[in-house]
Amino acid sequence: MPRSKRILVTGGSGFLGSFLCESLLRDGHDVLCVDNFQTGSRANIRHLLGNPNFELLRHDVTVPLFVEVEEIFNLACPASPKAYQTNPVKTVKTSVLGAINLLELARRTNAKILQASTSEVYGDPVVHPQPEAYWGNVNTIGPRSCYDEGKRCAETLFFDYERQLGLEIRVARIFNTYGPRMSRDDGRVVSNFIVQALRGEPITLYGAGEQTRSFCYVSDLIEGLRLLMDAPGSAPKPVNLGNPVEFTIRELAELVIELTGSKAPLVHRPLPKDDPTQRKPDISRAEEVLGWAPRIALREGLGHTIAYFDGLLSGRSPAPETEQALAPPGFVLQAGRPGAGRAGGNGLDRSE
Ligand code: NAD
Ligand code: UDP
Repeated sequence: MPRSKRILVTGGSGFLGSFLCESLLRDGHDVLCVDNFQTGSRANIRHLLGNPNFELLRHDVTVPLFVEVEEIFNLACPASPKAYQTNPVKTVKTSVLGAINLLELARRTNAKILQASTSEVYGDPVVHPQPEAYWGNVNTIGPRSCYDEGKRCAETLFFDYERQLGLEIRVARIFNTYGPRMSRDDGRVVSNFIVQALRGEPITLYGAGEQTRSFCYVSDLIEGLRLLMDAPGSAPKPVNLGNPVEFTIRELAELVIELTGSKAPLVHRPLPKDDPTQRKPDISRAEEVLGWAPRIALREGLGHTIAYFDGLLSGRSPAPETEQALAPPGFVLQAGRPGAGRAGGNGLDRSE
């Protein structure tokens, strides 16, 4: 068992943050969860509040923070287009001021710091799949720019703090990740389609549904983040984390309909401006540097996610703190031991 550390998770009450807090607590670390609850939920972390190694602080990362920590995972930022476009100026402040405040905290405390960056730094990519060396194709003045450019500037800050001040940084470029505890109304495609299918409401395909995404299950992503934080500082940066199996959005809708047994019809809605046409991570760096690759195929991950939303919508379970919301059966995170601890095969097939 590695030495117990005092670890800060910003955005810790959000979808990914809550699973990360849990994973760190399972390994015996002391976790400080910081969140302003803009898109996160108390329900996601309520079951952790009684844990003596868990502490919750309501705080906005645009304001400097003075605490003693050894590692920082910076996840604070709304992730869904609907959420980050609601107050775009705030989104930029969260990414940029948040990065500065947390990098300053890392500098003061000599902490290692990881940034949750995004595939959106590649914009609407013209290189496919996207390797880390690709600089992207990003609109600076569109509705997605507050998120894309905010995250790009945050990456710049991280690398400048490393070059100028010698900070120990990690940057994860996260591709579309899904699973239990996504907010049911945050507008992201997986939660939208599942909720619509379970309610028998029309499934909203934006545009023709021919745009592509590659969907990573949450437990895979959390393992990747943990391994990246623990990787040697000399390892190449940044690192793409995502599942490289690519689907059209129409294929995703059809799979959700099949797995839910829903009779919901597909309907078309206008394609949002600047919606990326195709997205698929090149994960060779993560495979090489971290020994990491996702293992949960879309069909399996959707099964867990559907079960979660089914419990939530039917009122059978208050959900986030139930077993159903946890990682898939057989999943045991063993950070630092890539390839260990998981039942089942790998998630890199397209047998759906
Ligand atoms: P989420 O919206 O569920 O979680 C974000 C959390 O950050 C929420 O709890 C929210 O309340 C908190 N937050 C937002 N602004 C804050 C502020 N100013 N101060 C303090 N807390 C604040 O989203 P998520 O899917 O869990 O994403 C977590 C991180 O991962 C985000 O930084 C996101 O950009 C990144 N990411 C996620 C995905 C994905 O597919 N889930 C993909 C790429 C990048
Ligand atoms: N999408 C869709 N119907 C929905 C929600 C999203 O067709 O109800 C599409 C959206 O246009 C995009 C893809 O699904 O092409 C992924 O959208 P999401 O908001 O989940 O994430 P993005 O990758 O765009 O940030």
